[in-house]
Amino acid sequence: MNENVSLGRIAGIHVGFNWSLLVVAALIAWSLATSLLPSAAPGQPSGAYWAAGVISAIVFLASLLAHELAHSIVAMRRGVKVEGITLWLFGGVSRFSSDTNSPGTQALFTFVGPLTSLVLGAVFYVISISASGGVHPGLAAATLSWLGYINISLGVFNLVPAFPLDGGRLLQSLIWLRTGDRLRATRIAARIGMGFAYLLIAYGLATFVFAGSLIGGVWSVFLGWFLLSAARSEEAGGLIRQALSGISVRDVMTSNPVQAPDNISVDDALHGYVLASRHSTFPTHDAGGRLSGLLTLAALKNVAPEARATTLIKDITCPLESVSTANPADPVTNLLGVAEGCSEGRTLIVDNGRLVGIISPSDISRLLQRSLHSNAV
Ligand SMILES: [Zn+2]
Repeated sequence: MNENVSLGRIAGIHVGFNWSLLVVAALIAWSLATSLLPSAAPGQPSGAYWAAGVISAIVFLASLLAHELAHSIVAMRRGVKVEGITLWLFGGVSRFSSDTNSPGTQALFTFVGPLTSLVLGAVFYVISISASGGVHPGLAAATLSWLGYINISLGVFNLVPAFPLDGGRLLQSLIWLRTGDRLRATRIAARIGMGFAYLLIAYGLATFVFAGSLIGGVWSVFLGWFLLSAARSEEAGGLIRQALSGISVRDVMTSNPVQAPDNISVDDALHGYVLASRHSTFPTHDAGGRLSGLLTLAALKNVAPEARATTLIKDITCPLESVSTANPADPVTNLLGVAEGCSEGRTLIVDNGRLVGIISPSDISRLLQRSLHSNAV
């Protein structure tokens, strides 16, 4: 579910979507325009149904975004680092780059998502009732009532207590709150999630085989399959978090990494830094000695040999705002799932504005292997 198109920032949160979202929007507009709206509000020209279908699809996507924004804004206010929101085939995903140690906080920012959908649904319903006069609702009322129905369905579906749905996370938060055992809570919610996913797959197959519903059947199977793998990775994530608990960034980082000035040429960087050391990435500093970015081997390799003498590395470094940073005292679990991007998954460790270390994805996987191994023994 990679982001293909960025929509900029809303309330300080990065928002984007994956192409698969357009498939959903087209399917919604098509089914509204060709069947749902004509039967709910008959006697209109087909252009009117299509206009209403397209507008509904757009408003539905905006409602989906409102659901995710509610999660992200409340999480951010509670001190969780929010990376951004991606809308895609199965709705929205809020990506957090840090974790919370408070089950109450997690319960709160989880609950506000479905709550937003339910409130939006109720508002659309109320407007649709006031817009409909007489026996036959007009097109506007039928459209609003569909928006009410779909938002309430979304809110209710998300409250099913199965990981990775919001309801599953809510259940996990509540068990965690009651027992203090986060891993056990994760396991229970993940198991229920897997059971629910199997049910959804069975339901999808049944509607396909017995009712001949191709789109609905296939979609349920896909959604079930997606939920199944997500529930599995939640459980695995729980185990990993447990294995790494109590370990801080300081314990894992490579201290005082070699820094390269960013005003030297690619040639000088290759000979003076890359070939002269066993490292493949170098934090860079500007003329004033301030941390300015991260130079990777991949970026150096991308420069054509004839341009190496004239290209400065400041023009090819991964800029600081695209590199994940952490404090030495942060829990190392914060670094799980650092985005690859131009930093190739590296995290720079900064203390009071000063670079003190670096962590690469292989540092984390090595630590993980050790920790999981020693936990298993
Ligand atoms: Zn949600």
